[in-house]
Amino acid sequence: MSEKRVLIVGGGLGGLRTAEALRANGFIGEIAIVGDEEFQPYNRPPLSKAALSSDLSHEELKFRQRDSVADVKWILGSAAEKLSADTQEVTLADGTSHTFDALVIATGIRPRLLPIPGPTQGLHTLRTLNDAQSLKAEIKPGSNVVIIGSGFIGCELAATATKLGATVHVVSLDAQPMIMPMGADLGAAMRKRHEEKGVTFHLGHTVAQFNGETQIESVTLDSGETLPADVVVEAIGSVPNTEWLRDNGLNLENGVLVDSNMRAVGSSIPIYAVGDASNHPNKFYGDQTRRIEHWNMPTETGKRAGAALAAELTGSELPTDDFFALPAFWSDQYEFQLQSYGLPGSASSSKVVSGELDGPCIVEYFDSSNKLCGVIGIDTVKELMPYRKKFLAGMQS
Ligand SMILES: Cc1cc2nc3c(=O)[nH]c(=O)nc-3n(C[C@H](O)[C@H](O)[C@H](O)COP(=O)(O)OP(=O)(O)OC[C@H]3O[C@@H](n4cnc5c(N)ncnc54)[C@H](O)[C@@H]3O)c2cc1C
Repeated sequence: MSEKRVLIVGGGLGGLRTAEALRANGFIGEIAIVGDEEFQPYNRPPLSKAALSSDLSHEELKFRQRDSVADVKWILGSAAEKLSADTQEVTLADGTSHTFDALVIATGIRPRLLPIPGPTQGLHTLRTLNDAQSLKAEIKPGSNVVIIGSGFIGCELAATATKLGATVHVVSLDAQPMIMPMGADLGAAMRKRHEEKGVTFHLGHTVAQFNGETQIESVTLDSGETLPADVVVEAIGSVPNTEWLRDNGLNLENGVLVDSNMRAVGSSIPIYAVGDASNHPNKFYGDQTRRIEHWNMPTETGKRAGAALAAELTGSELPTDDFFALPAFWSDQYEFQLQSYGLPGSASSSKVVSGELDGPCIVEYFDSSNKLCGVIGIDTVKELMPYRKKFLAGMQS
C-alpha cells in the first residue's frame, strides 16, 4: 500500500485514536504526531478529580499504546504555528517544518480567559497535567479557593478542593451550576448537594477585579462583594486551538468544519479534524453540526477519520454512510456519579422518571417535538444502560 505521510497535529486522545484507526484500516505509510505538550497522550478526566488529590504521574495517566502504533514518530514539546495547505507543510514554534500528504487536526481546546484586572499569581486554568500539578501544589487544607465558572470542570474542581479541606466559592453568571447540559431543576439539585458539602455559590455574578500586589489575595465581584482568595481557577468554557490553521480556506467559525468523514469542508487536499476541535455532522444531531467536548467523541471521530483517510490515501472509495455516534459523558463529584447519553443540553423540557432529584435519579430530556433527546442519571449507571442501547438502536420514542 501507500508510502504516504500522515501528519497528526495534537498529541491527545483524538490524535492517538486516529493513528490507531489508520493502521486498523490498512495504512502502512508514515505517521507522525506533533504535540505541544512534552507527554504522549494521557487521560484528562482524572485531572479535575484523582490527580488533584493524589500524586498521579504521566506514567499512570497515559493511554496504553497498541503495537499497531509503536512505529509512530512523536514530535513533542513544540506547537504548530502555521499551516500552509499550498505547500502541504506545518511549521512549528521551534522553527522546524514538517511536510505531509494528509493532515489530521487534533489540537483540542484550551480554557477561555476573562480580561480581569489585577495580579495573576495564584490564577490557574485546568487542561493539562502540568496545570493539574501546579494547582495541586496550591490547594491545601484551609486555603481559600475561588472558582470562576460552574460548568462540569468548575463543579468537579469545587468537589475535589472541598474534599481536600479548602474553603470553596464558585462565582458564575449562570442561574444554576451545570445549567447548560442539565437544565435548571437538576442544576439546582446539584447546587444543593454542593452547598451541603460546604461550597458557597455566587450565581448571576462574575469577578470584576483580582486584588493584591503580585499574588492574588482576594477577588471583588461585580456586586462589590470581596472574597478572600489564595487560589483562583478560571473554568468558564473553552476556545478551539485553530489559530494556526488560518488563511487556508478552512471554515474555523467553531472549531474545524468537517463532513461526515471528518474531512475538512472546502479543502482540496486531505485535511481531517477530530475530537474537541472538530465541528462535525452526526445523525444524532439532526441537521446541525456540533463540537462536542465529551471523552467518547475523540474516539468516535478518530475511528471515522482514520477509516476515511486510509481509503482516500489508497484511492479507495470513502465511506458514504452517515456518521452516527452517541454523545456520552460522566462526571464524578464527591461520592455522586453522574452519567449521560444523548444531548440533554439541547432539550426543551425534562421529566424525572425515577427517584428524586436529591437522591439517585434518572431525568429524561425531550426536544421541541417531544422526542427523547437525552438522559442524565445520578448514581444510576446500571439503570441507564437500556437508554444507551435504545439510542444506539435509533429507537427513540
Ligand atoms: C480537567 C478535565 C476533566 C474532564 N473530565 C471529563 C469527564 O469526566 N467526562 C468526559 O466525558 N469528558 C471529560 N473531559 C473531556 C475530555 O478529556 C476531552 O473531551 C478529550 O480530552 C478531548 O480529546 P482531544 O484529543 O480532542 O483533545 P485533547 O485531549 O485536548 O488533546 C489535544 C492536544 O493537542 C495539543 N495542542 C493544542 N494546540 C496545539 C498546537 N498548535 N500544536 C501542537 N499541539 C497542540 C494540546 O496541548 C493537547 O495535548 C475532561 C477534560 C478535562 C480537561
